[in-house]
Amino acid sequence: MNRRNFLKAGLFGAVAAASPISLSALDSATKPLLGGKSGRLNLRFFPYELQLRHAFNLARNQRTTTPGVQVEIEYDGLVGYGEASMPPYLGESVESVTRFLSSLDLSQFSDPFRIEDIHEYMDAVAPDNRAAKASVDIALHDLLGKIMGQPWYKIWGLNPDKCPNTSFTIGIDKADVVRQKVDEASPYKVIKVKMGLDNDKELVEIIRSKTDVPICVDANQGWDNKEKALEMCHWLAERNCLFVEQPMDKKAIDETAWLRERSPLPIIADEFLQRLPDVRRAAGAYDGINIKLMKSTGLHEAHQMANLARAMGMKVMLGCMTETSCAVTAAAQLAPMADWADLDGNLLIANDRFDGIKIVDGKVTIPDRPGIGVELLG
Ligand SMILES: [Mg+2]
Repeated sequence: MNRRNFLKAGLFGAVAAASPISLSALDSATKPLLGGKSGRLNLRFFPYELQLRHAFNLARNQRTTTPGVQVEIEYDGLVGYGEASMPPYLGESVESVTRFLSSLDLSQFSDPFRIEDIHEYMDAVAPDNRAAKASVDIALHDLLGKIMGQPWYKIWGLNPDKCPNTSFTIGIDKADVVRQKVDEASPYKVIKVKMGLDNDKELVEIIRSKTDVPICVDANQGWDNKEKALEMCHWLAERNCLFVEQPMDKKAIDETAWLRERSPLPIIADEFLQRLPDVRRAAGAYDGINIKLMKSTGLHEAHQMANLARAMGMKVMLGCMTETSCAVTAAAQLAPMADWADLDGNLLIANDRFDGIKIVDGKVTIPDRPGIGVELLG
């Protein structure tokens, strides 16, 4: 199947799911894809184009879709689901993800519980490709949870009543659009505001003219001067803001540490950090970390990052990309460990393949299903 046909197939998930790539071609040719007792891990994947509910406005054009790659790992008749999502700034694409997944031979593993070995193997195949690795990791966790008959929050011993509220994101936009988005955000208990342009204060004034719910701010490295950043933190602290995410350039570590010492609001690292070793680097300059499965290579390392951050007295935030309920529900398994959650990525797409995470009264609610807690929609 060439790439164009892949993308076409991605529009029709059910059709695509019936004809995924099998990396154990010999296996799949000699037995049914599902229901076989292979005793080996069988990885399949296919691109899946996500249709956005609302067109995403860019300077010169409008985007109505975003690419993803869906992953399935089959073992002894059970199927685990995973997903890679590839925001352009992380440097991965459908091509790079499918190339990486094609280079893996998971059939060498006969024990799906060897997560550490499988991650070591993937890191040896290529150093980066974090979203591609996350897709395998998520599918593996789904599979293992199904084998054990338990969701991961239970396996980790977490209390689902401790899940935080999720924020609903309002992007940088014109005043009337922001007003409309605030109305849309009314079911949520926290509003996340994207900042980093000249109209930062104007955005907050509009939101505050309509609602008192707490806000959190993501500057996406947009504040280029520490004094200005500190002034903004004080201004925001007076307007019921919970924290500021990635105020300055990820390379500006000393300036961020300076800001953190003086800021009345916690400073959270996002672009600054990806994987487990970055948590130690963040301590000192940041009060907390934003963990995203597509950065951390999936749940295995995300769980370690959350534990390490908490042990170091740091705040934990859980984020996601624009992706289906598959990856977002997987992330939600860690939500009881999080101080804050930004798990709204699945709400932005119109062709979700899965049922999973629910937001009930503003709060992240994990389904009571084994594995990552998703069910393929018919
Ligand atoms: Mg961010």
